[in-house]
Amino acid sequence: MESYIVTIIQTKKLTHDVIEIRTEKPAGYSFIPGQATEVAINKKGWEQKTRPFTFTCLPSDEYLEFIIKSYPSHEGVTKEMWNVQPGDSLIIGESWGAINYKGKGLFMAGGAGITPFISIFRQLAKDEQLDGNRLLFANKASEDIILEKELGSFLGNNIVHVLSNEMGGGYRSGFITESLIGEYATGTSDRFYVCGPPPMMDQILHHLQHLGFGQDAITVEI
Ligand SMILES: Cc1cc2nc3c(=O)[nH]c(=O)nc-3n(C[C@H](O)[C@H](O)[C@H](O)COP(=O)(O)OP(=O)(O)OC[C@H]3O[C@@H](n4cnc5c(N)ncnc54)[C@H](O)[C@@H]3O)c2cc1C
Repeated sequence: MESYIVTIIQTKKLTHDVIEIRTEKPAGYSFIPGQATEVAINKKGWEQKTRPFTFTCLPSDEYLEFIIKSYPSHEGVTKEMWNVQPGDSLIIGESWGAINYKGKGLFMAGGAGITPFISIFRQLAKDEQLDGNRLLFANKASEDIILEKELGSFLGNNIVHVLSNEMGGGYRSGFITESLIGEYATGTSDRFYVCGPPPMMDQILHHLQHLGFGQDAITVEI
């Protein structure tokens, strides 16, 4: 598979453990909003350690952008990503992935699982096609919410933040439940987009099945 060395042009800390990394874009490189690629840090000892990350920019942008949650508790790639600087470089592969926009629906994301939807929402905003889409966004606490302002500006009242470890502040507390999905599915064309950690995915897919929605209505990464 083709790989590309791309120089980092900008880094920005978005939350206490999430970093945004922009890189140069190879000529002719393309992806569909929602897709990912394999990424390694182009630094001695890290070049072979590839991990999947999702593009959060638009295909028409002149740069590539990734939003990466760092796990500082072990010496993995995401911990090392926290320390990269402009001038360093990444090694990326071709774009791949099954998540892409297939029509209006209910998006459900957990933590860094929001990344494929960031690119999709940015594209829909550019195309003025956001109407009719809704988002249930699950996090542990308000400090963990990625791009809360931007998502709010896109979706207004059509976004519900659900926090498992925090109460109040205008957020829902707990998890994305079957009744919450039932409440927010109404008025959409009954299409669902789901991305998050495996336990959350299992729960939500179970809820959707129980509510009677079939596999063909659900978009997930395979
Ligand atoms: C298609 C796809 C797209 C993705 N896109 C994104 C994205 O855009 N942004 C993003 O932030 N993430 C994304 N991810 C998740 C991301 O790939 C992982 O978080 C990353 O691979 C973790 O790499 P790592 O080397 O830091 O951890 P690894 O070493 O690969 O460990 C994986 C997980 O195991 C746990 N773990 C392993 N060893 C230890 C240890 N010793 N102590 C504690 N915990 C441990 C950690 O919780 C970690 O999440 C995506 C995943 C997929 C499949």
